[in-house]
Amino acid sequence: MEKCRVGIYDKKPETLTFLENFFKGKKEYSATFFKDAAELDMAVHGGSDWAVILGTSDCLDEAAPFVSRSSTIVMVEDEMGTGLAKVIKNNMESYILAPFNQEDLDYKLKLVRNRHRIANGLFGKVRDLEAIVELSYLMSSTLDPREVLNFMVKKIGETIDVSRCSIIGVEHGEKRYAEVVSSCEDPKPADLKLDLKKYPEIRKAHRLGKPVIVKDALKDPLMKTVAGIVKDMGIKAILVIPIVYRDEVIGSLFLRTSRSSRQFTEREIKFCQEIAKAAVNPLYNAFLFERLVKEKTRLERLSITDYLTGAYNIRYLYHRLEDEFQRARRYGNPLGCIMFDLDYFKKINDTYGHKAGDTVLREFCNIIKKHVRKTDVFARYGGEEFVMLMTHTDTAGAMIEGRRLRELVKNHHFKALGDKTGITVSMGISLYPDERVKGADDLITLADDALFKAKDQGRDRMVLA
Ligand code: GH3
Ligand code: MG
Ligand code: MG
Repeated sequence: MEKCRVGIYDKKPETLTFLENFFKGKKEYSATFFKDAAELDMAVHGGSDWAVILGTSDCLDEAAPFVSRSSTIVMVEDEMGTGLAKVIKNNMESYILAPFNQEDLDYKLKLVRNRHRIANGLFGKVRDLEAIVELSYLMSSTLDPREVLNFMVKKIGETIDVSRCSIIGVEHGEKRYAEVVSSCEDPKPADLKLDLKKYPEIRKAHRLGKPVIVKDALKDPLMKTVAGIVKDMGIKAILVIPIVYRDEVIGSLFLRTSRSSRQFTEREIKFCQEIAKAAVNPLYNAFLFERLVKEKTRLERLSITDYLTGAYNIRYLYHRLEDEFQRARRYGNPLGCIMFDLDYFKKINDTYGHKAGDTVLREFCNIIKKHVRKTDVFARYGGEEFVMLMTHTDTAGAMIEGRRLRELVKNHHFKALGDKTGITVSMGISLYPDERVKGADDLITLADDALFKAKDQGRDRMVLA
C-alpha cells in the first residue's frame, strides 16, 4: 500500500513530542517535520495527496494560505475558544483539541487516507474517461484502419504501464494464425503472424468472444501447454479483450506484463474493455471504407482494361490519345503511334482452335507489355489489332521500337502453339509532328493506312506512313 505523506509544521515542544511519538513505527505514514512555512509550502505545493498537521501557534496563520488543497488537521494548542476561532477563521476542515490523544489523531488521519483513496479512484476514472473520449474522437477522425489501431495502442500505452500491447487482427476464416496489426513497440509490424497454437489465451477469447484474464501465466491451467514459452518470455499477467462487431470477433487487444512487474488492475481491465467497445464502429467503418476504395480501384482498372488480353481497351486508348496529342502539341514533343496486326491469325484459329487463338493473343500482349515504357500506352484496338502510343518518341525512335517488338514476337515460342515460333506482325507507324496530322484521330488513320500497305507488301514488316 502506498504511504500517506504527512507534512507537520508546529512549534510547540510538547506537541512536537506527541507527534514524534505518534508517528514512530507507523509504516502507513511518512511524516516530515518542517522548520518553516516556506519549506512546507515547497513540499506540498500543488500536491493534493498530502496530509498537513499544523499547530495553532503562528504556524496555522502562516500556512493557511497555501494548504487549501491538502487535507489539514489543526492541533488546537491554545485555549479552546481562541483555538477554535482560528480553525474557523482559516476554514480548516479538521482539528483535535488538547490534551491530545493518539486515538483521536489516528482516527482523523484514517479519514484523510480514506478520502485520498476515494479521490484517487475518482481521478483515475476521470483520466480514463478523458482518454476514452479523446480516443473516440481520434478514431472517428480517420478512415484508415491502421491509424485507428495505432491510436488505440498508443493510448493504452500512455495510460497503462504494460510491457507489451498489441492488436491482433482476425483473418476471415483463418483459424490457425492471427496477425499483429499494431503494437506499442511498432505501429507497423511487417507481417507478424502469431501461430495460435502457441496462444491458448487468444484462442479462448476468440472462441468465447469475451475477455480472458490470466493473472499468473506460469500457474494458470489454461497456459499449461505453453508453460515453457511463457517462462522463457518472462510473462506475468495476460489480458485479451476481443473487439466484437455484431457477434463477430474482428480483432482483439492483447496485453502482457512482465514477470518482474504486476497484475492488471480492475481499472485497467475496465479501461481496455471500454476502448475495445469504443473502437468497434470506427474500426468497422474504416475497414468498410478500405474495402470500398479497393473495390473502386479494381473497378476503375477493370473499366479501362481489355478483358481477354489485359491490355488497355479502346476507350482508354482514345482518352489517352487525345491527352497525349494535346500535350505533344503544346510542348512541341514528338508522339509516335504503331498499329499492329497479327499476320494470318485466322489460320491459327483454324489450325489450333479459337481457344488457342485467345491464348496466343494473351501471350502476345504479355510480351509487348513487358517491353514497353511506363509512359507508353499499349491497347487492344480490335480483334487481333493493337495500338502503341509512344510519348517523346520521334521517327527514328519509333522505328527502333517497332523493329525490336517485331523481333521479340517473331522469336517467341508460343506455348499455345506447342512452343513453335513463327507468328509475325505487320506494323504501320505514324508520327506527330506531320503536316497530315491535324488532330489526334489522324495519327490512327495514318498508322492504319501504313499497316494496310505493310500487309499489301507481303506482311511481317513495318511501314512508315
Ligand atoms: P492478315 O491480318 O494477315 O491479313 O490475316 P488474318 O487472318 O489475321 O486477318 P483477318 O483480319 O482476316 O482475320 C483476323 C482473325 O482474327 C479473324 C478472327 O477470327 C480472329 N480474331 C479476332 N479476334 C479474336 C479473338 O479475340 N480471339 C481469337 N481466337 N481470334 C480472334
Ligand atoms: Mg491479322
Ligand atoms: Mg485484322
